[in-house]
Amino acid sequence: MRAAAQEILGLDIQELTGLLKEWGEPRYRAKQLFEAVYKQRVTSLDEITVFPKPLRDQLKEKHLQVSGARVEKKFLSSDGTIRYLIGFADGQSVETVWMPEGDDGEAGDGSEAGEEETAARRRPRATICVSSQVGCAVNCKFCMTALLGLKRNLSAGEIVAQITSVLNDHNVDLKERRINLVFMGQGEPFNNYDNFIKAVRLLVKGVGIAESRMTASTSGIVPKIYDLGKEEIRPKLAISLNASNDEERTKLIPINKKWDIAALVEAAKAFPLRKRENITFEYVLLEGENDSIENAKEVIDIVNSFGERASRVKLNLIAWNAGPEIAFHTPEDSRVHAFQKAIRDAGIPAFIRRPRGRDIYAACGQLKRIVTIEPATV
Ligand code: SAH
Ligand code: SF4
Repeated sequence: MRAAAQEILGLDIQELTGLLKEWGEPRYRAKQLFEAVYKQRVTSLDEITVFPKPLRDQLKEKHLQVSGARVEKKFLSSDGTIRYLIGFADGQSVETVWMPEGDDGEAGDGSEAGEEETAARRRPRATICVSSQVGCAVNCKFCMTALLGLKRNLSAGEIVAQITSVLNDHNVDLKERRINLVFMGQGEPFNNYDNFIKAVRLLVKGVGIAESRMTASTSGIVPKIYDLGKEEIRPKLAISLNASNDEERTKLIPINKKWDIAALVEAAKAFPLRKRENITFEYVLLEGENDSIENAKEVIDIVNSFGERASRVKLNLIAWNAGPEIAFHTPEDSRVHAFQKAIRDAGIPAFIRRPRGRDIYAACGQLKRIVTIEPATV
């Protein structure tokens, strides 16, 4: 029987060093392999041209491979967003979303505002939204991914592969294009914490995307918020608040029974922020459920309970993205703006996230591997 291929993508420099040492290869070969796989984003062993051919052949004989991830399908939105269906060796697949010109999620972020007007700032930007699990177990009532249930965790390599595949598809030179990453695709990153954080390290050290350009969103897995705060390399933190009181939040996000709003606030208050870094609360607006001015007032109270830290909290408002089998309603724009105004009038920065790729089921909460849609596929 043919031995199963071992994936190189996902191994860190120590693991690569160990692997090559077993074959008596010098240390610098591991560094070359790391550079080839992550920085150059090679897609086959033959492309690792810094390795002599016999060594490449040896990798093949040992059944090593660079990336088992394949772009299975692409869906193009009228707004330029592309939803990728990316498949893995075991037949599972996830979605990764490419949003040219960003996703507005970073609007008003302190790290942007304080940034010098450098050449880097003027580079054309794009945001990639990446999945951390196949499906999700958290079961939020407004989210289509929840309907998949949890199929399995993604490995660190599978998380990185989504990004390298999408970057390669657009021939992105990271020196010329500013890429933001949001861990807001399928899954709860903090329920797959070790693989998620390993992927972050590989993306920073290997692929070359700055951690300040990455945001991870959690539904509120409180112990992992504390863990993230201790990481040397980590993305910025976004927390899906989505309700203004515990009764409503428990209805929408069942894990609120375990970690309620007070526990979330405590963890967020203790989170060690870097210079110019903010904490984002995401708030999905559901018509008639959580979008009244009363709700806005409760949100203001939650932010004010941060005390001195309140000035470092911002809100991203997301009008609910509809999907089959879910019985919520998207509020009118006027209601969304009234909610935003109430928050802003209290001195709290609040931004409305522009929906991206709704027509191809690529917007927040719509990732459920839907393939039967009318709009253009590319
Ligand atoms: N699991 C993580 C990250 C993925 S979801 C989390 O829940 O935070 C990314 C964002 O999309 C979250 O803020 C989530 O609340 C929001 N979301 C989920 N379903 C949505 C929908 N149908 N419309 C709008 N936003 C939604
Ligand atoms: Fe999972 Fe996030 Fe969807 Fe909730 S909103 S079910 S945590 S992906």
